Amino acid sequence: MKIHDCLLNNRNGFSIGNTTLGKMVATAKKQNLWDKRPSGLVDTVVIHYMSAVNITPGNPYDMGQLLKIFCDYGVSCHYLITREGDIFRLVPEEAKAWHCGPSIMPDPDNRTGVNDFSIGIELAATADSGFTDAQYRALRELSLDIEKRHGMDMNFVGHDQIAGKRAVSMGLRKEPKADPGRLFDWEFFAGSLR
Ligand SMILES: [Zn+2]
Repeated sequence: MKIHDCLLNNRNGFSIGNTTLGKMVATAKKQNLWDKRPSGLVDTVVIHYMSAVNITPGNPYDMGQLLKIFCDYGVSCHYLITREGDIFRLVPEEAKAWHCGPSIMPDPDNRTGVNDFSIGIELAATADSGFTDAQYRALRELSLDIEKRHGMDMNFVGHDQIAGKRAVSMGLRKEPKADPGRLFDWEFFAGSLR
C-alpha cells in the first residue's frame, strides 16, 4: 500500500489553479488545518464522503477542488481516497483533524467530541455515485494498516452515525450529516477486514 503525502499545511506546494494549497492554508490564517490531540487512546475510524459537485459539476473529484473545500470551510481529515483508490495523507494521525463537528458515539459508548479520538477518512463520492471497487480495496488496506499500527481493533463508524439525527435530537448540532450514506456497503467492508 502506498500513501501519498499531501499535508494541509502552509508549506504545501501542490498547485491549485494559479495558487498553491500552502498559500490557501495561509490565507485561512493558519499554519495547519489540524490541532494537537488531547492525550488518550485513538480507537475509532470515521468514514465520510465528499465531492466538489456543487463547485465543478463536470469534474466532481478534482483533487485541487477537494483540497480547496478543506481550506474554504476550515475543515480537514486524515486521509482522502480517490475514485482510483489512491490514498492521500492530509493530516498526520497523531494530530486531531476537523472532520466530525459536534458528534456523539453510538449508544452505549456515547462519548462526544469524536474528533479527539478518531481518524477521519474521506472517500471521493457524491450522494448518488456509490463507491468504486478500488476505493473499497484501498479502504480495507488502510484500515488494516491503522489497526496494525495501533495494535487493536478499531471502532468503524459513519459520519451519519455520530452526527446524524440522534446528535440533532440531542441538541448537539443543527444539521444532520448523511455521509457515507446508504450506498456505502458496511457489511462488505466489515467482512473484508475480518
Ligand atoms: Zn462527513
